[in-house]
Amino acid sequence: MTMTEAGTAEAFHAVYGAAPTGVWAAPGRVNLIGEHTDYNDGFVMPLALPHTTAAAASARPDGVLRLHSGGADGGIVELRIDALRPAPGPADRILEASRGGAQRSGGWAAYPAGIVWAMREAGLPVGGADLHYESTVPTGAGLSSSAALEIATALALNDLYGLGLPAQRLAQLAQRAENAFVGVPCGIMDQTAAACCTEGHALFLDTRDLTQRQVPFDLAGEGLRLLVVDTCVKHELGDGAYAERRAGCERGARALGVRALRDISYAHLPEALDKLADDPDVRGLVRHIVTENHRVEEVIARLDAGDTRAIGPLLTAGHASLRDDFKISCAELDLAVDTAVAAGAVGARMTGGGFGGSAVVLVEETDAEKVTTAVTDAFAAAGFVPPRVFTAVPGAGARRLG
Ligand code: ADP
Ligand code: MG
Repeated sequence: MTMTEAGTAEAFHAVYGAAPTGVWAAPGRVNLIGEHTDYNDGFVMPLALPHTTAAAASARPDGVLRLHSGGADGGIVELRIDALRPAPGPADRILEASRGGAQRSGGWAAYPAGIVWAMREAGLPVGGADLHYESTVPTGAGLSSSAALEIATALALNDLYGLGLPAQRLAQLAQRAENAFVGVPCGIMDQTAAACCTEGHALFLDTRDLTQRQVPFDLAGEGLRLLVVDTCVKHELGDGAYAERRAGCERGARALGVRALRDISYAHLPEALDKLADDPDVRGLVRHIVTENHRVEEVIARLDAGDTRAIGPLLTAGHASLRDDFKISCAELDLAVDTAVAAGAVGARMTGGGFGGSAVVLVEETDAEKVTTAVTDAFAAAGFVPPRVFTAVPGAGARRLG
């Protein structure tokens, strides 16, 4: 599942006619619990997938950035780094900022170009580069292929230009790139997961002060398995709904007189909900964020106590909260979760932004096949696209492959 160093370096050679200086990789992720909390200064708990995006790269002395991806249509995208400008519109428009080189369609290049832009904006001495990407992270499946692409790029440039930046700083630069250059108002979770996760652990991140803790998450040792069910659908509603939920959370925080919803403690939730009696939509958003932060803390307590099975009901409760209070689930995600739980899963929830993408399902190893079959059959019976089911083994964060 991890892209190999040799394969990526060979592909680089075929594209650019020379060997790369090195190959770097960053993983996709699933979020175990803590959904939509990362723009509310809250808690998240992602783990890295074995799926990775590898970047083979060499520095260039002439201020030219050349980008090529085995996973994208079109040829080499060529940009001048001093002509990179953030654009407020969709990613495709960003390439208008380039001059001279081949301007192909494919807004994907905005992600890596945004990294160079963000590093330069921060005053870092980064120059041109040739980059070629190979990836096993499914795109648009809620598994964060965008952050894998960004962080593989950031790590490559960090090493090629001797910047010496720590992983969390690379994550912040990548978030800046995605927010300001690509134009996606994401939080800091995905980039931090890609940069900072470690094998065998889930990463607890406090998105306010960026403190982290690697929480041991050894499923195999306990006879458990975490399945990822990729529904292979992405409903159009997604982008607008994300912005709307974000704005609703900000409205809630303002109405309650706090900097962010993270500042409402679980103990004070009833009072907060009383104050929001005339705004049922915001009320639901607030209830989700406050209970979700609480669930993250409970999950950590249970993992620390060595009781991994006990996190199951918290995952399932998290799904109900996303479905009923935050209102970002969809028929496919609900069917995946309900069927998995009915077939004996320990717990299950949608993961990621919502309206499609993936669900995580915690199962006894001995039930994995039964649950997978039940979900697949239920999708067929409902006339849905067949889901892709795979096992998530907590993998390593970004690293140099060679
Ligand atoms: P997610 O991050 O959940 O996969 P996003 O919509 O945030 O979904 O990011 C997906 C986009 O990232 C793709 O449409 C594409 O533009 C870009 N992308 C990700 N990985 C690659 C890759 N290996 N090559 C080219 N583009 C990629
Ligand atoms: Mg993304």
